[in-house]
Amino acid sequence: MARIVMKFGGTSVADIARIRNVARHVKREVDAGHEVAVVVSAMAGKTNELVGWTREASPMHDAREYDAVVASGEQVTAGLLAITLQNMGVHARSWQGWQIPIKTDNAHGAARILDIDGAFLIKRFGEGQVAVIAGFQGIGPDNRISTLGRGGSDTSAVAIAAAVKADRCDIYTDVDGVYTTDPRIEPKARRLAKISFEEMLEMASLGAKVLQVRSVELAMVHRVRTFVRSSFDDPDAPGMGDLLNPPGTLICDEEEIVEQQVVTGIAYAKDEAQISLRRVGDRPGVAAGIFGPLAEANINVDMIVQNISEDGKYTDMTFTVPSGDVDKALAVLERLKASIGYDVVQSEAGMSKVSVIGIGMRSHAGVAATAFKALADKSINIRAITTSEIKISILIDGPYTELAVRTLHSVYGLDKQ
Ligand code: ADP
Ligand code: ASP
Ligand code: MG
Repeated sequence: MARIVMKFGGTSVADIARIRNVARHVKREVDAGHEVAVVVSAMAGKTNELVGWTREASPMHDAREYDAVVASGEQVTAGLLAITLQNMGVHARSWQGWQIPIKTDNAHGAARILDIDGAFLIKRFGEGQVAVIAGFQGIGPDNRISTLGRGGSDTSAVAIAAAVKADRCDIYTDVDGVYTTDPRIEPKARRLAKISFEEMLEMASLGAKVLQVRSVELAMVHRVRTFVRSSFDDPDAPGMGDLLNPPGTLICDEEEIVEQQVVTGIAYAKDEAQISLRRVGDRPGVAAGIFGPLAEANINVDMIVQNISEDGKYTDMTFTVPSGDVDKALAVLERLKASIGYDVVQSEAGMSKVSVIGIGMRSHAGVAATAFKALADKSINIRAITTSEIKISILIDGPYTELAVRTLHSVYGLDKQ
């Protein structure tokens, strides 16, 4: 007997037929004698619709009320799955975040889980009950419903798995694992049998939305054995109930991966914007004077490039922010114009960031040069570059995103291995 947390994303619970299919996956594990808790997302498209309504009601709105609205999607699917399971003879009950409780901080709209009462869920296991838990939501110190940021049900699932010391956390989605790149962009992408925590963390934070970044962090810290797998596979196909090695991708320690490639995957993030401050005085404290106030305004600055002018007196400061933050950033910079001292500020939206990720880069030279040459051969202009030990990120014009992803995927042989 094992203890398993099963999470089902939006497409997997998109309608009643899909929910029935999910219930069959759950029943398979229950019938095998396992202790099972389930985490569900809202039906596909529901959260977008709810977010849209809050904006329509008022573009600037109270984040606590945003949470009250957008958390409702998961409440519906938790109840519907519990009903479906009961109808199949499985002892199931739905639970919302506040009932367990899943305690979060006060950052409404992007809350972090602080504590989960694992004992509450362990008691349910003892009663032979399958708890069907609404993902994406918790309760803040203000006693109000909070949500965990988009894609947050992954994090709910991994945090619950850690709290109940589950043997496994299965993230069921609409692809059968983590691929070398988004299979929607590159049909030649291959499923990885295993990927290390570090690489998955980079993939997720650089745009691969298959897992929320925070869920990978939690899995890494709490050593949760996490599998990404497909809810579209036949629930009763051979091997689906394999306890130690179910079909999908295992997120694991680097040491568990025998054949490590130099490059593991390509990620991309659209909707980046570039902001340039022209002719900024080149003196100590300038960067702090620019990026401090931007951070205080909660603007996520990503790539930063600084060019010194020939006479050494001035510098151009260029950086990227998510497109949605451009107006806010420009307002901050306008306010700082006198204190920083710059000529003009220019901004350009519609950029993309493509990233090459792989632990093998630590010990291999020339990975970046290969990327630059491959993009040059396709006449793709590089706007900015950042690197770390295990990744290279390149800023390009948005319309070239797909071409760049496919080009990089192929130049590192990811479609072949
Ligand atoms: P869910 O609703 O189940 O949470 P998401 O839409 O959040 O599903 O995440 C699954 C999607 O992530 C896939 O449909 C796929 O298009 C996308 N994706 C992006 N990068 C990758 C990748 N490297 N491997 C697998 N899927 C990826
Ligand atoms: N329903 C939420 C969203 O769409 C949470 C999730 O699906 O993980 O962001
Ligand atoms: Mg998701």
